[in-house]
Amino acid sequence: MEEKQAFSPTLAEAQRLVDDWIKTYGVRYFSELTNMACLTEEVGELARVMSRKYGDQSFKAGENTDPSEEMADVLWVLLCLANQTGTDLSEAFRRSLEKKTKRDATRHLNNPKLSH
Ligand SMILES: [Mg+2]
Repeated sequence: MEEKQAFSPTLAEAQRLVDDWIKTYGVRYFSELTNMACLTEEVGELARVMSRKYGDQSFKAGENTDPSEEMADVLWVLLCLANQTGTDLSEAFRRSLEKKTKRDATRHLNNPKLSH
């Protein structure tokens, strides 16, 4: 039996994979505003699965029950938007981690609502 190869692209590689796919199969990127709407739509689809899997809603017969599918859809459109806006997601993520660490270094640790 053939062993499945690990697929662990970096954010930069994921951005490049999406760009290659768009240029090969997608003709061109949808406009930034169209992709913004698509991102919102995919976030809604993720919310739908989450509310049915972990919340009080129930699934209809034949409905997607796998949040990972919608998470990947969200990631896909986000990668498109990053490419279209010249965003280096690795660098942006690094800055975000730094910002959150500085801003929230003690905030959550000192939140009594979070302690067990
Ligand atoms: Mg979807």
